[in-house]
Amino acid sequence: MSNEYHHVLVAVDLTKDSHRVLERAIPIARRNNAKLSVIHTLEPLGFAYGGDIPMDLTSIQDQLDEHAKSRLAEVADPHDVPREDQHVVVGMPDTEIHRFSKENDVDLIVVGSHGRHGFALLLGSTSTGVLHGAECDVLAVRVGKEGEETAE
Ligand code: AMP
Repeated sequence: MSNEYHHVLVAVDLTKDSHRVLERAIPIARRNNAKLSVIHTLEPLGFAYGGDIPMDLTSIQDQLDEHAKSRLAEVADPHDVPREDQHVVVGMPDTEIHRFSKENDVDLIVVGSHGRHGFALLLGSTSTGVLHGAECDVLAVRVGKEGEETAE
C-alpha cells in the first residue's frame, strides 16, 4: 500500500474509452487508499450557440444535465463508483476539471489520450488542456489508436 495520492479524479467523455481510463485509475486509487471521483463536463448550451438564441435555455440545459448524469451512471456504476462520487458539471472540460481539483484537493487527475504520432499529437485537445495549468499530477491513459473507432 502506497499513500502518494489521496484523491484521484477521473475525467470521462462517456465514450467506451472511459472504461479503459477507469480500469487504469481504480487500482491506483485502491493501492493508495485514495478517494476516487469521476467527472464529466457538459458544454453550456448558450456557449455552443454563441449566446445568439433569444430564449431561456435553462430547462433544456437541465434535461441535458439529467441525461448526462444517467449516461455517467451507466459508465461508472459497473466500476462500483458511488453515485455521490459521480459528477456532471457544466462548462469547459479543462476549466471545470481544474476547478473541481482545487476545490476538492485532488492530487491526481486521470484522462484518456489518443496515441497519435509525433509529440504535438501525443495528447488530445482536452488532455492537453487538462495538463496545462494542472496543479497536481496528471496521468494520460492511452486509449483508442489513431483511426480506430472509439465513440459509442
Ligand atoms: P480528447 O481531447 O477528445 O482526445 O479527450 C481525451 C480525454 O479527455 C478523454 O479520454 C477524457 O479523459 C477527457 N475528456 C474529454 N471530454 C471530456 C468531457 N466532456 N468531460 C470530462 N473529460 C473529458
